[in-house]
Amino acid sequence: MEVIERFQEGIELKGYRIGDGHPSIVITGGIHGDEQTGSYTAELVWKKLQNETLLGEVVIYPVCNMSAAKTRQRRAPEDNLDLNRIFPGTPDGSYSQRLANRIWQVTEGFDYLLDLHCCGLYGSTYSMHCYSYYDFAEELCRAIGVKTVIHSKGTRGQLYIEACEERNQKGLLIEMPGGQPGGVINEAAAEELADQIIGYLKYIGIVRGSAGLSKEVCFCGCFDKEIKAPFDGICRPSVTPGTYVKEGEVIACINDFEFKAPYDAVITGMPPMRFIFEGDSVARYAPLATIPKGAVTRKKRG
Ligand SMILES: [Zn+2]
Repeated sequence: MEVIERFQEGIELKGYRIGDGHPSIVITGGIHGDEQTGSYTAELVWKKLQNETLLGEVVIYPVCNMSAAKTRQRRAPEDNLDLNRIFPGTPDGSYSQRLANRIWQVTEGFDYLLDLHCCGLYGSTYSMHCYSYYDFAEELCRAIGVKTVIHSKGTRGQLYIEACEERNQKGLLIEMPGGQPGGVINEAAAEELADQIIGYLKYIGIVRGSAGLSKEVCFCGCFDKEIKAPFDGICRPSVTPGTYVKEGEVIACINDFEFKAPYDAVITGMPPMRFIFEGDSVARYAPLATIPKGAVTRKKRG
């Protein structure tokens, strides 16, 4: 067990190390400063590992973007850049560019990379992956066993996408409820995911013990951002975050208008009753239909 402190040119990066050799994994949280469920989950994994036998190496950085975390914002106030869009960063750029580059360096050489994020107070837990074009993604998602997998658009500059593309690491990103706004922790979601991560570490052979692949995992499509509230009104949700709905099922009522699912879908985000305005997103959802191999174009670095 070792606490790692890496300070360089005003960059604060604190982590934990346990075990050594391969297979190895680096777990990152708090790349977005307000996404504290991810940071807390990383801390829980560290605690749980004290009772496990390590066969490989685990390194954990719970709060990667400390400057942003201290202001409970997504982005660091130094330059207001989105850290998870600029990997691998540059060694001589602005604060976030240098931080991205530092994180890129310290996450090199690991076989696996797990990046923990939050999708907001009214969100639910899901994996994100480009499972239609990374052959290893399905196995990783089944090994961690989070029920919902959303197909990522594969936007470049994200740590896990760059790790997959540029270094052939087996990257995975998990979104959890909590975080924005204000940087809060959903404790139940963190506890559940921390246990799933320990199972994942067993499956990939870093922690001693047996763990299998989940058959319950649902490989869903990309988020649909096209369908918006048709007019201003009071929106009452009919479902809770994480619910699976059938085509035509009522998701929410806007005044007396029944807002229905356009297809079988997973609702990953659903705010409580509130005023809603024309063009607002009513809920966050993705089609349940799995995206076939070859249907999504791999993104090039822009
Ligand atoms: Zn995030």
